[in-house]
Amino acid sequence: MIVKPILEEIKNVIKLGHYIFDETAKYELKESCAWVQDLFNELEEEVDREEADYEKGAISCELSLKRKSGKPFADHLLIRGNIKAKYMAPCIKCLKLTHQSVDADFQVCFIPQHLENEPEFEELDDIFTENEEFDLYFHQKGDADIAEMVHENLFINIEHFPLHDENCLGLCTECGQDLNEGTCKHQPAQ
Ligand SMILES: [Zn+2]
Ligand SMILES: [Zn+2]
Repeated sequence: MIVKPILEEIKNVIKLGHYIFDETAKYELKESCAWVQDLFNELEEEVDREEADYEKGAISCELSLKRKSGKPFADHLLIRGNIKAKYMAPCIKCLKLTHQSVDADFQVCFIPQHLENEPEFEELDDIFTENEEFDLYFHQKGDADIAEMVHENLFINIEHFPLHDENCLGLCTECGQDLNEGTCKHQPAQ
């Protein structure tokens, strides 16, 4: 296996034509890569970074790409990857900022778009090749939307209902009192 480190930034949509068949290209991407930074910003979409509790997090994405040819997928790209992030999100009950993390591995294969309508591939979500399973994606005439694929693999793995504490009491629906800090006149007497 030839490992070819590529220092230049990987674009959100890459061209298969830039890769040599059967060579592995590895990328380690961080916030300096624009679309990775966009993913991070989306994770913290609900966060006010001016808040006193806010602490800066981090995101990183590793991608290992291998272009392959031959039957039955024609020109295709195998990707093994990992996305990690530490970020903050508001507790869904009391809105207190809470630390979150995600660490997701993925294996995907980009095959040509025109195969999507072939009966062989119509019902298929993943394929088996190189003795491993890969989720199926499609490239458009050699353009593979890497950012969209990583986005999907990130957002299916995050905590969608973050809680600052599993016993969070939330806010009073009448006056907004944080019930973790004290009660208010709208709460039933203990
Ligand atoms: Zn809470
Ligand atoms: Zn109240």
